[in-house]
Amino acid sequence: MAPDSASPPAPGAPPPATGAPAPLLGAPAPADLAALVPPVVCELIARLVEAGHTAFVVGGSLRDVLLGREPHDWDMASDARPEQLVSLLPGAVYENRFGTVAVRREGQLFEITTFRLEHEYADHRRPHRVEFGDDLLADLARRDFTANAIAWGCAPSGPAGVLIDPFGGRADIASRTLRAVGDPALRFREDALRMVRAVRLAATLEFEIEPATLAAIRDNATLAAHLSGERIGAELARLLAAPRPSVGLELARQTGLLAVISPELAAQRGVPQQKIPGEDLWDHTLRAVDAAPAGRPVVRLAALLHDMGKPATRSGDRFPGHDAVGAEMADALLRRLRYPRAVAETVVHLVRHHMFPVDPDLSDAGVRRFIRRIGPQHLDALFDLRRADDLGSGADPDDAATLAFRGLVERELHAASPLDRGDLAIDGHDLMRELGLSPGPALGRLIDALLDRVIADPSLNERGSLLLLAQGLLDDANGLARDRAAAPPAAGPA
Ligand code: ATP
Ligand code: MG
Repeated sequence: MAPDSASPPAPGAPPPATGAPAPLLGAPAPADLAALVPPVVCELIARLVEAGHTAFVVGGSLRDVLLGREPHDWDMASDARPEQLVSLLPGAVYENRFGTVAVRREGQLFEITTFRLEHEYADHRRPHRVEFGDDLLADLARRDFTANAIAWGCAPSGPAGVLIDPFGGRADIASRTLRAVGDPALRFREDALRMVRAVRLAATLEFEIEPATLAAIRDNATLAAHLSGERIGAELARLLAAPRPSVGLELARQTGLLAVISPELAAQRGVPQQKIPGEDLWDHTLRAVDAAPAGRPVVRLAALLHDMGKPATRSGDRFPGHDAVGAEMADALLRRLRYPRAVAETVVHLVRHHMFPVDPDLSDAGVRRFIRRIGPQHLDALFDLRRADDLGSGADPDDAATLAFRGLVERELHAASPLDRGDLAIDGHDLMRELGLSPGPALGRLIDALLDRVIADPSLNERGSLLLLAQGLLDDANGLARDRAAAPPAAGPA
C-alpha cells in the first residue's frame, strides 16, 4: 500500500527544498516517549539543536521503544556534517567506513549519521553514491521499512518533541506490519539485502510482512545472488537470535531467498523423515532451530545446518554419512557467509559429531575417548544440539539412556582424568631429552599414542611408566621398520 497520501513526500519524489523549516509533519509523540529515550540521547540532540542544527532519534531504536522492546543501540540523524558533529560533541569520532560519527557517553556508544540521499544503486547492492542532505524527509524515504522510517526529536524552528512519521510507521508498528517504504519492488531492486532484512525483521520483531511487500520479495528473490556473503551472514546471525527463527527461515524458503542463499537447505523440503508424522526434513530442521537455546548462537547455527548433508546422501529412508558430508557443506556455506573462523570451526565440528551414540553402558575408557574426540569445551554445545535435534524429532530429550550417558560424562569430567596432551605427566621436551628424540610429526604421534594408553588406563599417567611405555612403542616401531626393510620387494610388473 502507498503511504498515506496526506503525508509528504511520496518516496522517490524529489526532497523538498532545503533550508526551509520542516513543515509540521509529526503527530505529537506518545506522552511517554520522552521518558523512554535516555537522557544522554536527549542531551546530544539538544547540543546539536542549540548549535542551530536539526537532530532526531531515528530507525530501529525508536521502533523498539514503541514496541516496548529494549533497543540495543540508539541511532540519531542530523543535518550537521560529520566534521561539524565532531567539533560540537566532545570525544566524537568520525568512522569514515560507515559514514557515521560515534560518541561514547556513560560507557555506551551512540551513532549519529548525517542525513543522506542515496543515488544510482548500481548492482542491487549498496548505493553508488551517497550524498549528505539537509532534509530529514529524504533521509527517512531512503530507509527500508515504514517501522524503521520514523524520527523523534526537535527542529530549531519546529515544534519540540514530535514524532515525524511520513509513511505511517507508527500504525504499522501498532499492527506489527512490515511494509516497504515506497514501491517494494523498486526498493528491493535498489538493494536486495532489504529482502533478507524483511524476513529477518519479521522473525526478530514478530511482524507480518504485508502482502505487496511479500509478493515483491517473491518476484525479486533471485537478486539476492548479487549480495556479498558477509552482509547475508550478518542478517542470518540476527535472524537466528529471534524468538522463533523458523518464522524467518520459512519465509525465506517460501519466497525463494533460501534457494539463493543455501540451495542445500532449500533442498530439504520434501525429503521424507521417519520422525513426526506428516513432517519432512525441512520441518525437522525448523523445529530443531527453534528448540536450540536462543542465547547460544553457535548451537542455533549448528541446528540449522546439522542435517544439511541429508538430501545429498539419501538412500531409501537412510542418509549414510550425512554427518561428515554435512560438515563439509556447512564449512563451505560458512566460508561463503564470512562467518568468523572460530565460530565456523565449532559449528562444523558439532555438525560432524551430531550423530554420537548415547550408550549408558559405555566403559570408563570409552567415555574418556568420547570426551577426547569431542573436546571438553564442546560437550555442552553438543548436548544442547542433541536436545534440539530430539525435540525437533518429537523425541524425549531426557530419556533414561541420555540422562545416564550424560551422567557418565559428568563423572569423568569431575574425576579430572587425563584427557588431552597437556594432562600427561611428561611432555615433548622430556621425551626428547630422555630418549634422544628430535622434534617433528613422529614425536607428536608418540605423544598421542601415550595419551591413548593413558585414556584407557589413567594409572599409567606417571613419569616413569610413560617413559618405559614410550621406549616400548619406539622399539616396536623400529622393529616394524626393520622387518619392512628386510622383507623381499612386493611382486609386481618389472
Ligand atoms: P536492529 O534492531 O536489529 O539493529 P535495525 O532496523 O536497527 O534492526 P540496523 O541494521 O541497525 O537495523 O539499521 C538501522 C536503520 O538503518 C534501520 O532501522 C533502517 O532505518 C536503516 N537501514 C538499515 N539497512 C538498510 C537498508 N539496506 N536499506 C535501507 N535502510 C536501511
Ligand atoms: Mg539497529
